[in-house]
Amino acid sequence: MLIGGEWSGSSTGAELESIDPTTGEVLAKVPSASPSDVDRAVRAAHASSKTWARVDARERAALLTEIAGRIRSRAEELAYLDSLDCGNPLKAMREDVLRSASSLEYYAGLVLEVRGTTVPATSANLHYTRREPYGVVARILAFNHPFLFAAGSLGAILGTGNALVLKPAPQTPLSALVLGEIVSEILPDGVVNIVTGGAEAGSALVRHPLVRRIQFTGSLGTGRAILRDAAAGDVVKHVTLELGGKNPLIVFPDADVEKAARGVIDGMNLTKCQGQSCGSTSRVLAHRDVQPALVEGLKRELARIRLGVPTEEDTDMGPLVTREHQARVLGFIRSGVEQGARLQHGGEPPNEEALKAGAFVEPTLFDEVTPEMTIASEEIFGPVMSVLTWTEPEEMLRIANDSQYGLTASIWTRDLSLALRTAHGIEAGTVTVNGVSRWKGMPFGGYKNSGLGRQNDLDEMMSFTQVKSVNVML
Ligand code: NAD
Repeated sequence: MLIGGEWSGSSTGAELESIDPTTGEVLAKVPSASPSDVDRAVRAAHASSKTWARVDARERAALLTEIAGRIRSRAEELAYLDSLDCGNPLKAMREDVLRSASSLEYYAGLVLEVRGTTVPATSANLHYTRREPYGVVARILAFNHPFLFAAGSLGAILGTGNALVLKPAPQTPLSALVLGEIVSEILPDGVVNIVTGGAEAGSALVRHPLVRRIQFTGSLGTGRAILRDAAAGDVVKHVTLELGGKNPLIVFPDADVEKAARGVIDGMNLTKCQGQSCGSTSRVLAHRDVQPALVEGLKRELARIRLGVPTEEDTDMGPLVTREHQARVLGFIRSGVEQGARLQHGGEPPNEEALKAGAFVEPTLFDEVTPEMTIASEEIFGPVMSVLTWTEPEEMLRIANDSQYGLTASIWTRDLSLALRTAHGIEAGTVTVNGVSRWKGMPFGGYKNSGLGRQNDLDEMMSFTQVKSVNVML
């Protein structure tokens, strides 16, 4: 672990095993941080935070840009490591690594926009505001994009003058430690600290009185625990949460069905992270008239996807992150069959001998799904799509919004008025018409139980600052 610029084990000697999800073998052992290790990391961050906050913004930006350059020069190694550790295909992890570098560059370019205002509160005096950092930020990560989440989060947090304690997911800690190598060569000691561990370490971080600001990416259950823990001590904390989704992709009768079918496959992120994505378009709401053609189109697309060893160039889809998660996803698939949905594709681990030891699940398609089925309401976080059918737009909107989540939605139609009416009626933080992607600069975050706060833009950067009003009587 990287604490105060030094590499360190756990004070208890406890370790976590990082398992290769393709073979089931132990890839590496990393320290399992105890609460006292977390305390050391937070104190190291706190000790460096005052000096770091006083560094000129443009100098901080130059260091962020240097980190981005170092990431680009080690991109192949980082992508390979993520692919081994989490099972996502190498091609997708290359994109993740480059996205994290461009995210750092984006925030480096924004540092001078983190500005205050002057206010004509009285005519005779000077009233202005400043944007100041919180001090120590804790960032706790999910497993599905290990390096992208770890490195991608540095820009907004460090660019605003905060120091950081970062905790990667226990299943996928390795690339964050290489990030530690990179930042320790560029940043002052203690500005970035990296602790590996599970729930105990995460909870100690959230509860620590010197942590004033928490940014979390993970499940709803953990998000709730973090809100409770953040409120439990003597210190009030600012918390943002990036949680789960059960995202609708709506296909109107006039849509280009072939394009919509490809949109579902892209939106599911099957070839990026096996559908283990908060933004997965796992509820496909097809108008009755297009449902048969859409299902046929989806089956054709799914048949092209090649499961395999994730570090091989021609693999489209690797294993899920662990055998436990594989069992969970297969349990959801069984519930779909038992509750009367029609299995149209996949549904099992693949048959190939070479993949037997891995946590693989075939991409799985159900139709004849109804809203009360478990597969239609719970976040599966795996390669499972459910097609639900509708006839009236009001019925469709009711089904689309009948979810505790509200992260993303995708609408497929050639009728722009209809698209915009639907976009405005959907309860989700991001809506895309005739597409499924995300763009830097567009805020990303959840309605309802999908989260608190937004990321991906200047507002995210502002969210790592607190506003000070200064009033000068002249
Ligand atoms: P998780 O909630 O199990 O774990 C996430 C992190 O929280 C891990 O680092 C874990 O060690 C830590 N943790 C566990 N218990 C904790 C506690 N009590 N206090 C503090 N930290 C604790 O989530 P996961 O299985 O790693 O990730 C999957 C979830 O993440 C899905 O629900 C997915 O939708 C969500 N996710 C959301 C986004 C988004 O941007 N909205 C992005 C990716 C993933």
